[in-house]
Order: sequence, then C-alpha cells, then structure tokens
Amino acid sequence: MDTIMADLELTDDVPPAADDGVWLACIECGETFAPFDEVRYTCDHCEGLLEVRYADLPTFDEFEGEGSGVWRYHAALPFDVGVTLPEGDTPLHEVPRIEESAGVDSLRVKHEGMNPTGSFKDRGMTVGVRVAQEVGVDRLACASTGNTSAALAAYGARAGLETLVLLPAGKVAAGKIAQAALHQARILEVDGNFDQCLDRVQDLAGRGEAYLLNSLNPFRLEGQKTIGLEIMEEHYADYGEYPDRIVLPVGNAGNTAALYKCFRELVKSGAITEDQVPKLTGAQAEGAAPMVEAIHEGLEETNRWEDVETRATAIRIGNPVNAPKALPGIRETGGTAVAVSDEEITEAQRELAGEGVGVEPASAASIAGLHKLREAGVVEDDESVVCLTTGHMLKDPDAAAAAGADPEPVPNDTDDILAHIDDGSSVRRGASKAAKSLALVAGGLGVAYLLRKLRSKD
Ligand SMILES: *Cc1c(COP(=O)(O)O)cnc(C)c1O
Ligand SMILES: [Zn+2]
Repeated sequence: MDTIMADLELTDDVPPAADDGVWLACIECGETFAPFDEVRYTCDHCEGLLEVRYADLPTFDEFEGEGSGVWRYHAALPFDVGVTLPEGDTPLHEVPRIEESAGVDSLRVKHEGMNPTGSFKDRGMTVGVRVAQEVGVDRLACASTGNTSAALAAYGARAGLETLVLLPAGKVAAGKIAQAALHQARILEVDGNFDQCLDRVQDLAGRGEAYLLNSLNPFRLEGQKTIGLEIMEEHYADYGEYPDRIVLPVGNAGNTAALYKCFRELVKSGAITEDQVPKLTGAQAEGAAPMVEAIHEGLEETNRWEDVETRATAIRIGNPVNAPKALPGIRETGGTAVAVSDEEITEAQRELAGEGVGVEPASAASIAGLHKLREAGVVEDDESVVCLTTGHMLKDPDAAAAAGADPEPVPNDTDDILAHIDDGSSVRRGASKAAKSLALVAGGLGVAYLLRKLRSKD
C-alpha cells in the first residue's frame, strides 16, 4: 500500500502549528495549519482538502475499557468527548441468506441506520459540532441530500446552536425533512440539485455567515473513521482476522475517505500490517456514478456530472468533493467501484428486509454492488466481506412502501380472514410482509403522519 499521493502519507514530524498534538495538513501541497485558531475548510494556499493529523496514533490496546460508541476511540480523535446523543456501536449483522446468495466465505452487514438519527452522519456530527463549539461559531450550516441535515439539526439542537440546512427541492426523502424540521433547523429548499446546494453553502461559509458541516469539513471524517475501527475490532473478535473487503455506498465519498484514513492510521501505529487493510469497494447508482467512472477510466479526478438521477436520493451526487482522498483509498487498498441500477438497489433493499435489516435505498447499493462484483468474478468466493448500510429504512417511507407489496383488504370476520389466508400464494406471503413493514412505517416513528402534516402546511 504505497500511497501514490505523497501527502496522504502520515509523517512523524510534528509541525509548530500543532495544538496538543493535533494539526491540519493540506493533502495537495503539504502546508500545515493550527486546528482550531481559525475557521478553515480548505488550504489557504492551494484550496486543497485538509486532513486532521496527530502526533500519536493509538493501537487497539488503547481502546480497551473505554466503553462503546464513537468516543470509545477518543485516543484517535481530537477531543475526549463531543456533543453526544450517543452514537456509534452499531450492529454488525449476520445475514446468512444473503451470504449464501452472494456466495462469499462470510458476509456481515454494518448497519449504520441504527445511529440516533438513523444514519452514519451522526458519527461525523458528534465531532464536527464539538469543533464548532471550540472555534466559537453560533450558526451551523450544511447542504444535504437529507441525512446530513437530520443529523446536523439534532446535534445543533443538542448544542443549542442555530442550524441552517440547504436541500434540493423535491429530492429529499420524507423522514429526513421531518427530522430536520422537528429538530428545529431552518430548512431552505434550493431550486437546484445537491451539488448546487453545496456550492451555495460553501459561499455562505466563505463569507463567514455559517460554520460548514458538510464532509468537506475534515473533522467530520474523524468521527466517521470510527466505523472502520468498530468493524476491525468486531470482525477480529468474531473470526480472528480482519475482513478482506468493505463495500460501501458512495455519494460525496466522505465515508470512503474516512475508512481509508482509519486504515492508514492503523498501519502507521502498527496496529495492523499493510496486507491486513480491507479492499475499499465503492457502490454508486448508475445515474450518479462519477467515482465509478474515475476508477474504471483511471482518471486523476472525477468529472462533475451535471445531471444525476436515482431513487437512492442519499447518493444522488454528481461532484464528490472527497474524491481526492477517496480515489487513492480505493486504488491503494486494491478495491474497486461498481455502478448498480435502481432496480438492483430495490431488490437488495428487499433482500436485506427479508433478513430483518431495514435500510433506505442508498444503503442497499452496497449489497447490490457485492452481487454484481461476485457475478463478474471481481469479488472471489473465499472472501470475507463487510457491507455498509448507511441509513434506516424509515428515512424513506415512500421507497419502503413502494418496494413492498400492498396490504390486502379483508372483511372483519375470522372465517373470511382464514379463507383469505388459505387462498394464499407466495404473492400473499410477500404481501403480508409488506403490510408489516407498512405498519412499521406508520407506527414506528410516525414519519408518514408527520409527512402528511408537513405537506398540509403548504
Ligand atoms: C450521506 C450518505 C451516503 C453517502 O456517503 P458519502 O460519505 O457522502 O459517500 C450514503 N448513504 C446514506 C444513507 C447517506 O446518508
Ligand atoms: Zn495546499
């Protein structure tokens, strides 16, 4: 794993800018900056992406006895504790039927939908909002396909800070808008796509009007790298070895960048060897696949896709801002990237639901991608694989309801109901499963109800 980009290499030199062993480094020109003295998202000199660096990197031993969740890993983070709800410690599900149908040695699903607001974005926000307190801002902002806004709204509320979220009008799943609204963010619906929302919020942040908490903010990725730490620890405890491959949905490629950073730091600290680093494998929707294009065509950077479309709204992104960190991550770990259709995504969403794991469409891209790469022979049958599912099923109740079968009306009579059931085919079995998931949607979080209330306002 020799890095093609020298500045993704972690060095032993602690620059004068370091504060308590923490500093920021530009991944393009190597310039270093103090971490908290000024608000800064990119390099002052070349506008390159910044990365958080540490004088001391922990091995797994240093996490022992430190509780659970993101802050278990404080030895690998810039603070001992953050604004917490708390987050992390998500399940690493066994999925025997999908393991069988994919035909791999072992398959586990790391379900990040089990975080407090229902997506992995919480891991980034617990650190990012803590940094916002440190630098002393009073207004937080993000552009979002939905989950970032839900997480920022909740963590901003927790910290008592004003929160602004910019969303692409008509392209955000119902559960996510409901969350942002109820957690008291101001929701600005922009007549544009996600990438344009991000352009706008970067302008606002650049003018000093708000503290930017998109994944361009390097501190968010610090929290998200704990996904990798949890996977490595638990996989090792269960199998006595680390996974060969991690497959994850890719939008802005923040998580891909965060996992790569996790592995670089583990190698640097001596916790793992280079050949124990899992192959980072990205999955995108066919209608929004600039990372897949860049990997397959060997591009130095991604092309910006102006028109993106997919049912998986969380990854409906044409200009992945973290590509300069994530492309080397995929390449240097021996991974790859794969594009899947909306139909394949929905099928994988059903397959996961059939194992009791409820995910939103974007999340299912990892399972759909695994199937595709197995069929192509890229992933081999002796591999141990972890697929990341990024968000909870109830985030997008409309997609969940559409993916399941319709409820079956029956008379209010036990004999008629029994006759109806006995009439049953496999279609009916599917239907009753769907009815259950609909009941979940309506009852679980009250998301559908909230949505109706929201819609009736305009
Ligand atoms: C944000 C998000 C993604 C994309 O993650 P990146 O780090 O931007 O690549 C994927 N799935 C869900 C559910 C998300 O909320
Ligand atoms: Zn620079």
